[in-house]
Amino acid sequence: MKLILLGAPGAGKGTVAKMLTQLDGSVQISTGDILRGAVAAGTELGKQAEAAMKRGDLVSDDLIMGIMGKRLQEPDCKNGFLLDGFPRTIPQAEALKGLLARLGIKLDTVVSIDVPREVILDRLTTRRTCSNAKCQAIYNVKSNPPKKEGVCDKCGSPVVQREDETEAAISHRLETYNQKTAPLIGFYEKEGMLLSVNATSSEAVIAAIKRKLGK
Ligand code: ADP
Repeated sequence: MKLILLGAPGAGKGTVAKMLTQLDGSVQISTGDILRGAVAAGTELGKQAEAAMKRGDLVSDDLIMGIMGKRLQEPDCKNGFLLDGFPRTIPQAEALKGLLARLGIKLDTVVSIDVPREVILDRLTTRRTCSNAKCQAIYNVKSNPPKKEGVCDKCGSPVVQREDETEAAISHRLETYNQKTAPLIGFYEKEGMLLSVNATSSEAVIAAIKRKLGK
């Protein structure tokens, strides 16, 4: 599968991507995970991205295209990839179109996951993330807590609230999404690539994708 997953923060892109990787060996590529890993490792990339991320602003299109230009050429992408959190702006979508054409890659579809704002707000304030940059497993204090409070089931590292998951940063991220990312829905609709899914359960989103791809 070669998919783009679109949706507001908290729409479930990461969860859906992880479930899809189980189906056919496609890799999940999350620009947010890559950036958080770089911040944790203190690399040059991390230093450039950190301030914008903390505020809930987007990092620059050039920085993101630099990452993705390389990432999409790594060998594991041959089996398929699920783009989670990228593209996030019209310039990124235009640049991705050029990049895919140059690499001779054709996308299957672009999935837009629509979830009501109240559900999103509730999910983001109760979301917790594994602090280990290599793991970044996601939990929810209400619906999916770790077995031992504050400890990751998968790797044993502390489970924390992300720095951009304070109420102020969350509402800023949602605003940024509406302004910069929501226009991609129209962009991909025009390209004839859009699958819109109105669903709050990840299983329903997976079922709609399978139907669309005939899997
Ligand atoms: P969420 O989808 O939950 O908001 P992500 O983990 O996808 O979170 O992204 C976290 C932060 O990383 C974003 O708020 C932004 O600062 C940065 N980021 C991730 N992907 C992109 C992108 N494609 N373009 C610009 N900034 C990005």
